[in-house]
Amino acid sequence: MAKVEPLTTARVLRGPFDYELPEGAGIGSVLEVPFGHQTLLGVITGLAEQSEHQLVAPRRVLEHSLPPDLVELALWMAAEYCSTPARALGLVSPPSGARAKTALWAEVVEVPQEARLNDNQRALLESLPRFTGADTAALRRLEGRGLVRIAPRIVRRHVVHTSVGARRPEAPPLTGEQEAALAAILAAEPGEGLLLHGVTGSGKTEVYLQAVARALDRGESAIVLVPEIGLTPQIVSRFVDRFGDTVAVLHSKLGTGERHDEWARLRAGGARVCVGPRSAVFAPLDRLGLVIVDEEHDSSYKHEGDPRYDARAVAAQRARMTGAVLVAGSATPRPESFLALRRLRMGSRVDGASLPKVEMIDMREARRALHPLTVHALHDARKSIVLLNRRGWSNFLTCRSCAEVWMCPECDVSLVLHRSEDLIACHHCGHREPVPTRCDTCGSVSIGRHGTGTERLEHELAEAGHPVFRLDADTPKAAFVLAAFERAERGILVGTQMVAKGHDFPDVTLGVVLDADATLRFPDFRAEERTFALVAQLAGRAGRGAQDGRVLVQTIAADAPSLAYAARHDSEGFLAGELRRREALRYPPYSTLIRVVCSSAEPGAANAAAQAVRDALPAPALGPAPLFRLRGRERSQVVVKATDRRAAIAAVDGAVRDVAGRRDHKAAAFSVDVDPQ
Ligand code: ADP
Ligand code: ZN
Ligand code: ZN
Repeated sequence: MAKVEPLTTARVLRGPFDYELPEGAGIGSVLEVPFGHQTLLGVITGLAEQSEHQLVAPRRVLEHSLPPDLVELALWMAAEYCSTPARALGLVSPPSGARAKTALWAEVVEVPQEARLNDNQRALLESLPRFTGADTAALRRLEGRGLVRIAPRIVRRHVVHTSVGARRPEAPPLTGEQEAALAAILAAEPGEGLLLHGVTGSGKTEVYLQAVARALDRGESAIVLVPEIGLTPQIVSRFVDRFGDTVAVLHSKLGTGERHDEWARLRAGGARVCVGPRSAVFAPLDRLGLVIVDEEHDSSYKHEGDPRYDARAVAAQRARMTGAVLVAGSATPRPESFLALRRLRMGSRVDGASLPKVEMIDMREARRALHPLTVHALHDARKSIVLLNRRGWSNFLTCRSCAEVWMCPECDVSLVLHRSEDLIACHHCGHREPVPTRCDTCGSVSIGRHGTGTERLEHELAEAGHPVFRLDADTPKAAFVLAAFERAERGILVGTQMVAKGHDFPDVTLGVVLDADATLRFPDFRAEERTFALVAQLAGRAGRGAQDGRVLVQTIAADAPSLAYAARHDSEGFLAGELRRREALRYPPYSTLIRVVCSSAEPGAANAAAQAVRDALPAPALGPAPLFRLRGRERSQVVVKATDRRAAIAAVDGAVRDVAGRRDHKAAAFSVDVDPQ
């Protein structure tokens, strides 16, 4: 008998349910099962001898099944992130909506000496075996004479990669530091986690590549997680260049067909290395030997849907369950990883180059977005990168007569001007409207534009005669912008935090951060960590080639410790201080935070629900605290800070289920975030 978890998003429907076990099916098989009046997809999560229920037979067993270790991983995730097994299984399941693509393949059976063939037919036979393509009809005639055999065959949909950045298909001899790191990885215990803490340009990718090569030699497979693929095409290219077809790349931009084919290749063993963003942690590989998390500080590893999993934690769990080795790498590791993982340090750049000199520029007296010193430096540098973590033209519009600010009708945030599209937009819900010509309240036509975003900066730099390449969430093809910037003789790459990802452009000598303290102004205990990482990462893009690099940091908080540590490239010093502060305030990694957000379109309902959740909790919690209205829904949150992680997760899960099931809180929706970012 099979225990089947139906793949439904309904929270109330909790399996597993018992069904007859079809021939040949086992844990991980995906089935179509009758469920009430409907047919649902389901996954076998367990087997049992007998059931007290009358058993129903599944309708069908699907072609692809899940490896049993992914079933176990999904059940762990459901519990760890207060979700349901069905939702977690949905994340690890084979991609639906596509099948293998087939085409007709022709091969020669036998051509007797006496066969009468014209030149065309001989040429056709010579060209086999191959897909029939345009010659299907002619080949069918030969098939009719028994000369050729034609049958459908699976065609792989091809995935195209844009190569960007310095290329190096052959493995270079390792530096001493790389050698030591590789040796430690190869000697690690099964299930162990290591932190490769290497400064920018220390050659972490080469260590990953050689560790993966050794795993493959041992007959094992590997997963390589990278931040958003569109932004990090370089690392993907390096793996594809080095390992060719044994690499499958899974990412969100793949079509359903391509996704299906890559998944099937991994499942069947045709591909043994999976490179991809956070969801690649679910790659259906067996004999997993190595899981790499590159740029482990990157916030894209946190999934914002239900279950709100953190791919770094899931990667560590998968490694523990399968006996693989986990390697998390970064120049700016999170305090969590710094504390929990065994550290491997690479303190110098591969070519012996020094890290760039970082200078603070005090902007308290400045009147323009770019300080004159910055303007000069940009003028002198051939290639530079400018980071401004704000897209659009200007942050907000106000009426000069009555001071009215243009706000989103659905969210409590101001609308941002996008001049090239001639509209103002909400960066939270996507609401857009035409640029106003007069004030709705007082009728004045004098409208002020405040602040500078990447679009305006691009315009100003272009006016000053620089070739500018802009990279932000409004850029449709990030990989093309990066490739164009790489090819350019001179130019400035301008953009949001996207420009500070792991790019490797040896001829960039200048890095500039504008409004560096912007991230410090967020009321969040991770504000320092984010600010430090952003500045240190941007600094890491400069001076990677023969010439020395220079970094300018424009700020109104020049003495903020996180900026000072970043300027000295002192990540150990920063982490030591940050860990002391967190321990004193009992923040992660010295506690677990769980956030419950209640939302509702009905006024007051979100706050009432949050209050009820707080009351239903066995221990005191913080809140309810209002959050800004989003997508027309009021929001309110309760935060639990706990030392006993398991007990706290169970308590929150219980409280939320209790309140969500009550009739008086029907109007509220609940979302639970364990380890919020
Ligand atoms: P990181 O990820 O640590 O910032 P990268 O992996 O991008 O650094 O490496 C920086 C550059 O150094 C890359 O262009 C890479 O090809 C090159 N590189 C790495 N290891 C070596 C080596 N052992 N010898 C020569 N060049 C290397
Ligand atoms: Zn007005
Ligand atoms: Zn909005």
